[in-house]
Amino acid sequence: MPDYQTHDHDVLVIGAGGAGLRAAIEASAAGVSVGLVCKSLLGKAHTVMAEGGIAAALANVDDRDSWKVHFADTMRGGQYVNNWRMAELHAKEAPDRVRELEAWGAMFDRTADGRILQRNFGGHRYPRLAHVGDRTGLEMIRTLQDHGIHQGIDVHMECTVTSLLKDDGGVVGAFGYERERGRFKVFRARAVVLATGGVGRAYKITSNSWEYTGDGHTLAYDAGADLVDMEFMQFHPTGMVWPPSVRGILVTEGVRGEGGVLKNSLGRRFMFDDIPEAYRSQTADNEEEGWRYTQGDKSARRPPELLTRDHVSRCIVREIKEGRGSPHGGVYLDISWIKDRIAKGAEHIKKKLPSMYHQFKQLADIDITREPMEVGPTTHYIMGGVRVDADTQMSSVPGLFAAGECAAGINGANRLGGNSLSDLLVFGKRAGEFAATFARDRKAGAIDPQQVAEAARSAVEPFERSPQGEGPYQVQYALQEMMQDLVGIVRTEQEMQRALDGLETLRARASRVGAAGHREYNPGWHAALDLHNLLTVSEAITRSALERRESRGGHFREDYPEMDAAFGKINTIVRKERDGRMTVSRAAIPEIPEELKSIIESMK
Ligand SMILES: Cc1cc2nc3c(=O)[nH]c(=O)nc-3n(C[C@H](O)[C@H](O)[C@H](O)COP(=O)(O)OP(=O)(O)OC[C@H]3O[C@@H](n4cnc5c(N)ncnc54)[C@H](O)[C@@H]3O)c2cc1C
Repeated sequence: MPDYQTHDHDVLVIGAGGAGLRAAIEASAAGVSVGLVCKSLLGKAHTVMAEGGIAAALANVDDRDSWKVHFADTMRGGQYVNNWRMAELHAKEAPDRVRELEAWGAMFDRTADGRILQRNFGGHRYPRLAHVGDRTGLEMIRTLQDHGIHQGIDVHMECTVTSLLKDDGGVVGAFGYERERGRFKVFRARAVVLATGGVGRAYKITSNSWEYTGDGHTLAYDAGADLVDMEFMQFHPTGMVWPPSVRGILVTEGVRGEGGVLKNSLGRRFMFDDIPEAYRSQTADNEEEGWRYTQGDKSARRPPELLTRDHVSRCIVREIKEGRGSPHGGVYLDISWIKDRIAKGAEHIKKKLPSMYHQFKQLADIDITREPMEVGPTTHYIMGGVRVDADTQMSSVPGLFAAGECAAGINGANRLGGNSLSDLLVFGKRAGEFAATFARDRKAGAIDPQQVAEAARSAVEPFERSPQGEGPYQVQYALQEMMQDLVGIVRTEQEMQRALDGLETLRARASRVGAAGHREYNPGWHAALDLHNLLTVSEAITRSALERRESRGGHFREDYPEMDAAFGKINTIVRKERDGRMTVSRAAIPEIPEELKSIIESMK
């Protein structure tokens, strides 16, 4: 029998980003005991990197905003394959969640009369993003942590969960290991909330941190839960492209919200060349109007740089492919030009975008108040994830809940900037609340020693193989390269079939990867264990992308470049069959109620 420590909690939350912290706070407030596990130190989750803001229809800057406009924007952005109930709950509840954060001490930027300031962002009709300069995620995590810490939540830091434990078809706990010492832990729980974030490390160019290896997606899938719409990856239009060591690091959409413009090597604002029909009536058709919009003129329409991320990314790729890119394979993003329009422009830029100023100054020796930045698309966010019930966030496996980026539904085919942070708050709270209710009503399940032994056996497997062969990083790099090239921004049947073959080969290579040394302080071992997750989510993305023979949102097929109404009625579902095979099927999207339909129609 393996050696391990056991911890008992009513609710176990895996992940301490915005979603996990909010879930833990809610469950704990409901009076149940809560354990919170995270791979890094508390406060270091990916949410801390969020820059632009939290989308919520507070209507502080433009009183025409309301939950209905936010709902319609989210559905349009998601190209109508969203879980409409989640989009409705999100739009209705986000303002209260932001005000609650304020009451818990978050220091938002302010309007002249002292209310929470809101900024423009792509796809949002009105200024909607509550923000703290360009460090909103940091403030969000700080506030949630300060609040949560006083509630008696047990935190297990630097601990990676590698499998979920089941009894009688439901989830009753989890198995993990301490990253520092390698000791095993078994968590017994009546309900488990997954809040593990995204999958961006399956790609070569990404804005995502080392933690984004698709763990929650894989844990859920291996436990028998459905994944939904895994083909929908978001490639953010503006990542750094130079120098190579920082390629992929995010350049916030806030730059464009503050008036930044995209230009090609000919100096042309190419975004005016291709405005999709669905957005034409809401988009400025000249530069002057676009500028006025960014400065708060309510009669102006938004500039085309603030169209949805999927569209802006494709326009950038077109410019680069057609030879109008910048020297390092991107295009130009220029905020320095606003100095000609406003007094003390350089100070204004530094005040509004302090992180961007420092990022470019320190990493690329570029002063963004004087020169344009070079930017290009970067893998940023996955819209697909664990399929959950909209109201409760429970997955298709009893006792297993999911929230935040690892869950899916609210964003459909494309997420609007700012909608993730509000998603974390709205659905983190709901997941915590319903997990607590579930836990209270349920007897503790039995932990099966066989499952624990099997989890421990696969955890130490890399040590049993020879460390002389290929290392885990070589397999990971090969995977990232392949996913970037064959299942990236522009996809074809032929290339994705090649990717499936490649995945098989990579799985075989991964099964031979060994780890040297022992379990203490061993990053090579951690990387070897990550491979299973990265390969699983990559296969799910590829199979789902093959199934959706159309282009929609973040999923663009060169061989099916148009949107197909038939695919607008379905979500793709990925499931693990009894024999271990991954299958993809289609599920009809439930009919949207008349009341919500008419909101969408009235805003078109
Ligand atoms: C640079 C950048 C800027 C962004 N800016 C914005 C923005 O302005 N507005 C917006 O709405 N969105 C933004 N996003 C997206 C948003 O930040 C993320 O989608 C969101 O923070 C995800 O939060 P989460 O709680 O789901 O997961 P995370 O914050 O990533 O937390 C995941 C947690 O799970 C833990 N974990 C993972 N796997 C395991 C495991 N196996 N065992 C134990 N613990 C595990 C991690 O340690 C971590 O604690 C941005 C993203 C990036 C990359």
